[in-house]
Amino acid sequence: MSQEPTHMPAGRARDCVQAIRPYVPGKPAEEVAREYGIKEVLKLASNENPLGPSPRALQAVRDGLTDLHVYPDGSGFHLKRAIGEHYGVRPEQVTLGNGSNDVLELVARTYLEPGSNAVFSQHAFAVYALATQAAGAEARVVPARPADDPEMPFGADLAAMAAAIDANTRVLFLANPNNPTGTWVETAELRALLDAVPAHVIVVLDEAYTEYVGDPAFPDGIELLAHYPNLVTIRTFSKIFGLAALRVGFAVSDPAIASLLDRVRQPFNVNTLALRAAEAALEDDEFIAESRAVNHAGLAQWMRAADERGWQTVPSRANFITVMTPFPAGCVFEALLQEGVIVRPLGGMEACGGLSQALRITIGTTEQNARAIEALERVLARLADKGCSS
Ligand SMILES: *Cc1c(COP(=O)(O)O)cnc(C)c1O
Repeated sequence: MSQEPTHMPAGRARDCVQAIRPYVPGKPAEEVAREYGIKEVLKLASNENPLGPSPRALQAVRDGLTDLHVYPDGSGFHLKRAIGEHYGVRPEQVTLGNGSNDVLELVARTYLEPGSNAVFSQHAFAVYALATQAAGAEARVVPARPADDPEMPFGADLAAMAAAIDANTRVLFLANPNNPTGTWVETAELRALLDAVPAHVIVVLDEAYTEYVGDPAFPDGIELLAHYPNLVTIRTFSKIFGLAALRVGFAVSDPAIASLLDRVRQPFNVNTLALRAAEAALEDDEFIAESRAVNHAGLAQWMRAADERGWQTVPSRANFITVMTPFPAGCVFEALLQEGVIVRPLGGMEACGGLSQALRITIGTTEQNARAIEALERVLARLADKGCSS
């Protein structure tokens, strides 16, 4: 008799699901505080807005609490109309999601199936691989530019991505700026990619951090929609709008694509508080401008600190910075935890791509950045002295 268990408590899962490596979420800040006996833990791990939520959104949430017994507006009528007016598109072009993560999955469920493939870059946002694998499709991961690339180390190689497309490719994912690297692509190279992609391939341009860039020359996926009917531009309320907990994001696309995405979503995929908060946040110009200014100053603060200390960084235009260290990222991460600073070590898939010693650190306020910089400096000195214990 074999020693194999005869029961199957997990059931008979699809092979493509069994093959997925689980996403490992970070420890909550309160747990870190308890474990290391630290009063105030600083979490710079998830690219959240250090200024908190948009005050206008917060008020909308308070006002919405009395309606918790009523189902959300499943059509997202008001938010779609507000997005349409704000970005100069029609409401029929807008698809709302429970975070942009949901929208990414809607794209995968709509376009991907076994036998098909999705193309994306090495070091791309982790959700692209998860959504592709969950749909049973092949993930075509295209090597990124090398670490010593003079223009954009670790950046997406758009020519190689275009070349990786074949008859079975249904989707190409690209984040601009990208997470976790912070790297970006300019308008000319993006347009060259869009020109090269055949019409049967949906291009998902994930612009989660675009509001942080603040440069009129930076490519705008919503403007590009007029030229490329196979383009799906994705935005989120989780980053500059400060609403990560509410889970709301959206896609703007050709109405024909929006109509398909609409067929696979849950009827009430965005909750009432999220719908109302997002609508309010969209018009909170003051908060957005301040968030952008704080981020620009913080990014400059980090770059200066890195230059002064000889830390190598990856170029970034987002609300985080990737810092290369001389030690395995997990080891520096653990040491920073003891200092009460939580960052994101780039491990996993990144480990084989030259980022195994990299930390992704969210840009905080001036004070938060100063604390994190000092902590990192102390930790690196200690590790240089004592080495890595983990
Ligand atoms: C943070 C992030 C998102 C946003 O995810 P939500 O589900 O909207 O919170 C999307 N794409 C990228 C590349 C991100 O980094």
